[in-house]
Amino acid sequence: MRTLNSCPACGCAEFSVVVKLDGDNRQRFIDFDTRKYGGAFATWETRVPPIILACSGCGHCWYKNQPDEEELSSMYASGRPLLDHSADDFREPDAHMISEMRRLRSMVGREDKPALLDYGSGFGRWARAAVIAGFKVTAYEPSSSRGSEDKKTAFEIVHDLSQIAGKTFDAVNIEQVLEHVPEPVDILKSIGAYCSENTIVRITVPNILRPPEGKNIWRVWPYDGVRVHSMVPFEHLHGFTPLSLKKVVERAQLRSVSNSALWRFYPVLKLRNILGRIYPRLGQTMFFAQKE
Ligand SMILES: [Zn+2]
Repeated sequence: MRTLNSCPACGCAEFSVVVKLDGDNRQRFIDFDTRKYGGAFATWETRVPPIILACSGCGHCWYKNQPDEEELSSMYASGRPLLDHSADDFREPDAHMISEMRRLRSMVGREDKPALLDYGSGFGRWARAAVIAGFKVTAYEPSSSRGSEDKKTAFEIVHDLSQIAGKTFDAVNIEQVLEHVPEPVDILKSIGAYCSENTIVRITVPNILRPPEGKNIWRVWPYDGVRVHSMVPFEHLHGFTPLSLKKVVERAQLRSVSNSALWRFYPVLKLRNILGRIYPRLGQTMFFAQKE
């Protein structure tokens, strides 16, 4: 177990406790563990006490106590989905994903087939969307039980980063990955190795200021009996705000793409992030970055 006593996004050492296990949320933790992991993590309540902190500077939320990598791997390996998905629906990209990847393809702006790395590709939905949008796709998924079940994939799947050592890509897609990793700054820094100075890195994370649970977010934590919570223990180790995502990108020695590119390809994102300086809930947790 590791204990994080400063903000993993901006480094600030001032924070408050948002929620921890006590009273009736304890039973919801046990219910979640039973449904999702067959009760395998009941002892984590005392071994890795679930406590969520919030940064006074950037609003980032995080689990103070975090399982180590081995514990996280065994947790993911033993989990089962809370909601049923049709296997085919689960694998096919939807229209939004395809349009997002087409927009990224336009932003990259090359005539030939640009190379995209989908980092943390899961079951490969975004990788498929990127193929449809005209990218030559490499999907990196650390879990070998994911992404490889379909032998007909139109993209390359790697389960070990040594397989792409020394390669650079025209675009990197990091879709809803950073909330899962203990050290998001370190992960982003390491991705710099696959980037040239022109590579565009698209990063998205869930926005803790606009959670599906609304204002009940901490009242129903860690499990409302149906859905995966925005700060589900210990899968979502981080709850990002637009500002905390920006801080993580900056500390990883990346910078935003030019204003002109954002206005041209993502005018709504640009506008919302300007308004978000006054009304933080309007900002979006999506970032387009390049190497410094
Ligand atoms: Zn912070």
